[in-house]
Amino acid sequence: MHFPFTKAASILDTLTDHGFEAYVVGGAVRDYLLGREIHDVDIATSAHPGDVAALFRRTIPVGIEHGTVLVVHGGQHYEVTTFRSESGYDDFRHPKKVTFERSLEKDLMRRDFTINALAMDRSGRVIDLFNGQKDMRLRLIRMVGKADNRISEDPLRIMRGIRFTAELGFGLGDAERRAFRERASLLRKISVERIDQEMTRLLAGEAARGAFRFLSETGCFRVLPRLEQAASSALEAVRFALLRSDEERWAAFLSALDIPDVHDFAKAWHWSRAREKRVIALQEADRIRQEADWNLIRVYRAGPNLAQAAERLQAAFGREDMGLLDSRMTQIDHLWRALPIRGRGDLAVHGGHLRQWSDEKPGPWLAKALAEIEEQVVCGGVPNELEAIQSWFEAWQKRKRKS
Ligand code: ATP
Ligand code: MG
Repeated sequence: MHFPFTKAASILDTLTDHGFEAYVVGGAVRDYLLGREIHDVDIATSAHPGDVAALFRRTIPVGIEHGTVLVVHGGQHYEVTTFRSESGYDDFRHPKKVTFERSLEKDLMRRDFTINALAMDRSGRVIDLFNGQKDMRLRLIRMVGKADNRISEDPLRIMRGIRFTAELGFGLGDAERRAFRERASLLRKISVERIDQEMTRLLAGEAARGAFRFLSETGCFRVLPRLEQAASSALEAVRFALLRSDEERWAAFLSALDIPDVHDFAKAWHWSRAREKRVIALQEADRIRQEADWNLIRVYRAGPNLAQAAERLQAAFGREDMGLLDSRMTQIDHLWRALPIRGRGDLAVHGGHLRQWSDEKPGPWLAKALAEIEEQVVCGGVPNELEAIQSWFEAWQKRKRKS
């Protein structure tokens, strides 16, 4: 047997050398067994938080009352959590009571899904008390224990379960499917920030399409803010895999569902102002792109990032050939690089010059003239040089006076 979490090995050794049990648990074991990239390595131990803090040189007490101590080791952080059980989830957020336990089994029982309830000891042996590896082979998300009870304890598990189907391409067990459907309305009790977190990860999942179907079949859409009318068929037609950022995926999601008021959605979902603005800008770039192809002035105004994102949205919605996407990206790069200026600050002239060259009093004409000059320079009508711009400007003024 082989212990793959080499950097965490000495943490387990330190704990076991002092007579404690210690295991790698949860997502790391799951992702290792599935051959997926491993993010955080979490450790469960029989040691109490005080013991953990005493055993390691650098620790951060992030959640002592929940049994968690962060151990800093080799430039990485490891969550080391005392075996625990949870009870009384009355506010649907945090368990009322956390009890430290003596056995790994109790700790694994509190975990949500069988594939998340796996542990590995220092020798590489997998402890699988709930058939998590069998469910991996069957490619099913199943809950530890009775699905109904586990959802009533913490309804967010519905969203987590469907999010895992999106990330792993798994299905839902029969009991889970039924229990999710019966209890979907409990999601109303969950804070929208936590729902948003799961939804954002769901949208990034390779199998998001299947997850949309689950959200629809189980009635989750019906209880999520502003998604009461969402139809999964509209979402399944979109190739989310072509998109690169959370904001691009949200922009596509809202466009596919024809949700017109992004500001209202952002408020209902407690989005940051930054995300709201980015999503609105992406949808705007998408609209501009639908009107006409990219040229110098359009790329100048949108910037290369928005322009390329808009191109990905075109492909995701099947409005452009996916096979042409790479060459379209290159084309936008070329246009951006060919620009004589990248912003108004790069212009060889500013308002002061125009005032010198003109006997008119400063007024709205100044901003108009600058905008005209900017466009002329971007499109190559005038070189970005002081004298050239001056002659263009003088001719422009003459023409204006005549008309
Ligand atoms: P990822 O980090 O990729 O989301 P993960 O499995 O590590 O996957 P975390 O949210 O980091 O997920 O949680 C770590 C572990 O804690 C999970 O594997 C699971 O065993 C347990 N867990 C997390 N959230 C819940 C929950 N709401 N109910 C029960 N167990 C949970
Ligand atoms: Mg994790």
